[in-house]
Amino acid sequence: MSQALIIVGAGHAGGRAALTLREEGYTGRLILIGDEAHLPYERPSLSKGVLQGSTDLAGCSLCDNARLAALGIEHIAGNPVSRLDTQQHRLQLADGQWLTYTGLLLATGGRARRLPEAQAPVLYLRTHDEALALRDRLRSGTRVVVIGGGFIGLEVAATARGLGCEVTLLEAGPRLAGRVLPAPISAALLALHREQGVDVRLNVAVECIHADAVQLVDGQRLPCDLVVAGIGMQPNIELAAAAGLEVGQGIRVDAQLRTSAADIYAAGDVCEFRLAGVYQRQETWRNAEAQGRHAALNLLGRALPFETLPGFWSDQYDWGLQTVGVMTARTVSRALPGAGLLLFYLDADARLQGACGWAPGNAAARDIKLCERLIAAGTVLNPGSLADADVSLKPLLRG
Ligand code: FAD
Ligand code: NAP
Repeated sequence: MSQALIIVGAGHAGGRAALTLREEGYTGRLILIGDEAHLPYERPSLSKGVLQGSTDLAGCSLCDNARLAALGIEHIAGNPVSRLDTQQHRLQLADGQWLTYTGLLLATGGRARRLPEAQAPVLYLRTHDEALALRDRLRSGTRVVVIGGGFIGLEVAATARGLGCEVTLLEAGPRLAGRVLPAPISAALLALHREQGVDVRLNVAVECIHADAVQLVDGQRLPCDLVVAGIGMQPNIELAAAAGLEVGQGIRVDAQLRTSAADIYAAGDVCEFRLAGVYQRQETWRNAEAQGRHAALNLLGRALPFETLPGFWSDQYDWGLQTVGVMTARTVSRALPGAGLLLFYLDADARLQGACGWAPGNAAARDIKLCERLIAAGTVLNPGSLADADVSLKPLLRG
């Protein structure tokens, strides 16, 4: 049995951690274990470029085989870890082999939540293979019912419309992406999707799914050729839980991303950490990137506390959504050209805590970058200036 630093989960956080370990000078044995057949890749393009056919797997991958080989990263693909023995500091792969670790990172991400009421095939979107299966079915004129008005549902709906499909989107709640977005942005998303021809229905409950239709609880029957569900993510915590690690809604970690076992860290979608005093998971690219890097540093003994400013983006049609920071405090709203919207969240001293923008092209991304700098600077802001679209944000950085 050989000893090594081992990463379980060759997705975004796991892949980033492996690359960081080498960048930071770790020269020992390094093993990256994944259950998918692919090189580590980033998922955001799956619901956008990959589904449209404009991006392929190489375009999403964190690195290629040559780089992994050059860095001496042993990538075990298509062979999930089935058992973790924290007492003996070893793990077992599905093919039966055991590997011993000196330090371990769990970056097992999550899987698409399944619909219990499906009596016919439903497509989901979490992996590259699922994206290809869905792409094959999205043809002009295809009648698609999308279940779930979160990011998967909305991005799939936008891409499917772009490919000429007829799309109906069913959301159980009273507004789109209601748990993560402020109400005015949900309303703007709803308006855009309807303008683009998506039949969006809110407060809808699905009774059952047949091969040729979706049956709603209120008796309506929606004929369709294809059903796609994006009803949330289920974190892959089973391996950690079975090994006796502390888990809540994810694998629980301390401020250094260390689990309840001293030589095991967690990162990415599966990692439940304290943010503003509350245990939570962040299901975003930014978090996978930051925690993957951070866990790698701490595997090397740096003992650094993880500090983060949360944030995410979404692209739908030719519009961009971008958020940064915490969206809980006092709100100031700014109308952007082209019916866009920028919301600022201020604390009691009028310092920026968070912001959320929705605008054509990359206008929101540009503004949110400036907001990130305003948050970091802790500048006291004038709400009147923030509300005024004629006041540029950049000069506000000077206070
Ligand atoms: P993953 O990337 O899921 O990687 C975990 C890997 O571990 C997977 O390959 C999994 O199969 C593997 N694994 C699990 N268990 C085992 C085991 N026992 N043994 C071996 N391997 C195992 N975020 C944004 O901010 N903006 C976006 O626009 C955006 N778009 C997205 C679009 C889609 C379609 C999806 C699915 C997600 C999107 N996200 C976006 C979210 C972002 O991609 C995730 O937050 C990120 O991928 C999380 O990275 P991760 O490494 O934690 O998990
Ligand atoms: P999600 O963001 O949790 O949204 C799921 C949505 O489906 C919620 O609005 C939920 O409503 C609704 N819903 C749940 N059950 C339903 C049902 N039976 N019928 C109708 N609606 C139902 O999850 P997701 O969109 O599936 O995304 C999965 C993961 O991918 C998440 O981690 C997400 O962050 C990530 N992702 C991110 C992006 C991005 O950041 N741009 C893009 C794509 C994917 P309730 O909230 O009322 O339950």
